[in-house]
Amino acid sequence: MIDLKSMTPEEIGGFLSSLGEPAFRAKQVFTWLHRGAASFEEMTNLPKSLREKLREQCLLTPPRAARRQVSAQDGTIKYLWELGDGNCVESVLMRYHHGNTVCISSQVGCRMGCAFCASTIAGKVRDLTPAEMLDQVLFTQLDSGAEVSNIVLMGIGEPMDNLDNVLRFLELVNHPDGMHIGMRHISLSTCGVIPGIRRLAELELQLTLSVSLHAPDSETRSKIMPVNRAYDVEELFGACHDYFRKTGRRISFEYAMIDGVNDHDWQADLIARKLRGMPGHVNLIPLNDVVESPYKPSRRLAAFQKRLESHGVTATVRRSLGGDIDASCGQLRRRAMEEQQKGELRP
Ligand code: SAH
Repeated sequence: MIDLKSMTPEEIGGFLSSLGEPAFRAKQVFTWLHRGAASFEEMTNLPKSLREKLREQCLLTPPRAARRQVSAQDGTIKYLWELGDGNCVESVLMRYHHGNTVCISSQVGCRMGCAFCASTIAGKVRDLTPAEMLDQVLFTQLDSGAEVSNIVLMGIGEPMDNLDNVLRFLELVNHPDGMHIGMRHISLSTCGVIPGIRRLAELELQLTLSVSLHAPDSETRSKIMPVNRAYDVEELFGACHDYFRKTGRRISFEYAMIDGVNDHDWQADLIARKLRGMPGHVNLIPLNDVVESPYKPSRRLAAFQKRLESHGVTATVRRSLGGDIDASCGQLRRRAMEEQQKGELRP
C-alpha cells in the first residue's frame, strides 16, 4: 500500500501521473490529506474513478484516540493514539500564553535506555512514519479544537534514531499547502546522538535543537544515559559548539534534576565551563517520578539555577503542566500496556 500522506506534493504528483492523472490533482490530494480527511471518498473534487483507485492502492488510517485525559488544572490534554497496526503512542497538548504546543512521539517505544525514563522500559517496537508524526499534530488540533502553533518532538522515541522520517515530517508540517507550521515554532530533542546533531547542523534549519544533557560529567551521564557510552558528553559538547557555529541557533539543554545524582554545585560549575563561548539555555526539569525507577526528584532546583546564573548561564525551571493527569510522556502508554497484559491474563 502506498503511504501518500508521507509524500511531498511533488511525489504525490509523480504517483498520480503514473495513474494517468493530471499534475494539478497532487495539490488537491495533499490538501485533503493535510486537512485530516478520513477517507478518499470525502475528496469530492476528485473524479470518482480516481478516488476508487486511491482507495485500492493507498493507505489512509487516521489514528484513533484510544484515551484522552484532560487536566482540570490547566486544560492540558494527553492523547493515547492507536495507530493503524494497533500500536500506541502519546501526544500532549499544552496551552501556553504564547500559543498551543503539541508534544509528539517519533517512535513506538525507544531503545536509548535512559534510566529515569518511562518510554524506554519495554524497548523500541518500530519507527513512526512521517504521516504518523503529522497525524499526531493534525488530529490533536482537530480533536481538541485548539489551533496548534508550536510543536516539540519530545514525546516517546529518539528523533535522531529515526531522522529520515523526522526530516520528512518537518518538511510536510512546514509546507504552505499543509499545516504550515514555521520551523521557528518547532523544537527537536535528542539524548545526544552526535551524528544526528551533525547532520542537522548541515541543514541549517531554523528549528530549536534541545539536547537532553542531564549530567555534564561522563561518569554520572553514563550511569543514567547509556547513549553516553557511545557518544561521550565531552564529544557532545564539541558537537553542540559546532552546531551553534554553523547555524547561529541557541541550543536548549534539558536537565531533569535527580536527587543526589546530578544536582551538585560542582556539576552546575562544570556546565557553565563547558558552555563557555555559546549562548546556551539550561532548562531545569523537576524529575517526574517513574514508579519503575530508583531515582527521586531533587530539592535543589532553585539553588542549582542560582549557581548556573552566577556564571552567566541562562537557566529556567520548567513549569510543569498537567500534574493531575500524569502528563509526562511514556507513562500513559506504559499504563495501557500493563492493563492490556493483565486483561490478557484474565481467564
Ligand atoms: N529521546 C529524546 C526525546 C525525548 S524528550 C530525548 O531524549 O531528548 C523527553 C525529555 O524528557 C527528555 O529530555 C528526557 O530526558 C526527559 N525525561 C524522560 N524521563 C523523565 C522523567 N522521569 N522526568 C523528567 N524528565 C524526563
